[in-house]
Amino acid sequence: MIDFHCHIDLYPKPNEVVRECVKRGIYTLSVTTTPSAWQKTSDLATDVDAKRVRTALGFHPAIASERKSEITLFDNYISHTKYVGEIGLDGSKELAGTYNDQIDVFEHVLAKCQAVGGKILSIHSKHAARDVLQRIESHPHVGTPILHWYSGGYRDLEKAIALGCWFSIGPTMIYSDKGRLLISRMPKDRILTESDGPFAKLKGATLYPWDVEIVVRKLAEIWCLTEEQTQKQLWSNFRTLTHSKLESHPPLFS
Ligand code: MN
Repeated sequence: MIDFHCHIDLYPKPNEVVRECVKRGIYTLSVTTTPSAWQKTSDLATDVDAKRVRTALGFHPAIASERKSEITLFDNYISHTKYVGEIGLDGSKELAGTYNDQIDVFEHVLAKCQAVGGKILSIHSKHAARDVLQRIESHPHVGTPILHWYSGGYRDLEKAIALGCWFSIGPTMIYSDKGRLLISRMPKDRILTESDGPFAKLKGATLYPWDVEIVVRKLAEIWCLTEEQTQKQLWSNFRTLTHSKLESHPPLFS
């Protein structure tokens, strides 16, 4: 299984979550919310057995404004990882006062990614899909953008697809009517699964990386495939995205 967006460092017992991911062989992208959290989060997965866990360098829009001073730290760490996230913009009303700072930080991050090249980005776009896409468009060599938990409109979705965006889908999204409609319009070969735990909850319960199983089951229904065919499609997507060796199964996480 693949969890391409999970905040491992924010669980009460992150080490246990990593251990469980290792035990179950789950490929996990452990995203961070601040550059200052990166080193410690990355250390959670230094164990040789945890080679299926990768740590992304993030700058979450909800705290981008108060942590703006960490931009230098972001620049210092960028060469340490191929993965960047969680980054993006959040147009929620309660964050309106920070929106200009969010844009400054997001644009800085994109410019940096574009300058170094080859990054894979996990991007938040809640109530801000259009603004996020506009910035992706103005940074055509930013790497591979993955819109995590996309909840924007259909026209913006079309634009995202045209811009080459990928999508990561979690249990919450798959249990909403609009979410399922959006998923049915996304290219099958650009989709990955995610949990977004522990932020995301399903029916009041905190989600864990292994809960992506629910997504696989529901994706199979949407795609009219068997669960096995769905898994195969997801592994193929994962290999394409990470340039993992095609012949190995399960693939290596580069
Ligand atoms: Mn998240």
